[in-house]
Amino acid sequence: MSQETLFTKIINREIPADIVYEDELSLAFKDINPQAPFHVLIIPKKPIATINDIALDDRELVGHLYYVAKQLATEHGFSDEGYRVVMNCNENAGQTVFHIHLHMLAGKMLGWPPY
Ligand code: C5P
Repeated sequence: MSQETLFTKIINREIPADIVYEDELSLAFKDINPQAPFHVLIIPKKPIATINDIALDDRELVGHLYYVAKQLATEHGFSDEGYRVVMNCNENAGQTVFHIHLHMLAGKMLGWPPY
């Protein structure tokens, strides 16, 4: 399953987003409904609907998203104080956009467990 979502439109600059990082494989932009002082979504440019749809060949791409998170943490000064990176899958986790995305949250003490 790899249908176009609004994140494809953000990648293609068809709808606006506050983009903080881009490379040939990925894009990161500020979440429009931030749950922390720093809340960005890190997405692959390749549309993959859910974690369930990650193929063997996508493993490096998914790892790349975590590498981008680490780079953003360094760049924005969150490496030492800490931050959270999380990906929701399907209804029970609250996934609403079916193009996989890492939420990166930082800038405050985050609660756990997340419910
Ligand atoms: O994990 P989930 O699918 O619920 O996350 C989708 C996220 O995409 C939400 O946090 C929502 O605020 C964000 N979003 C966005 N820009 C849009 C539409 C949704 O940042 N145009």
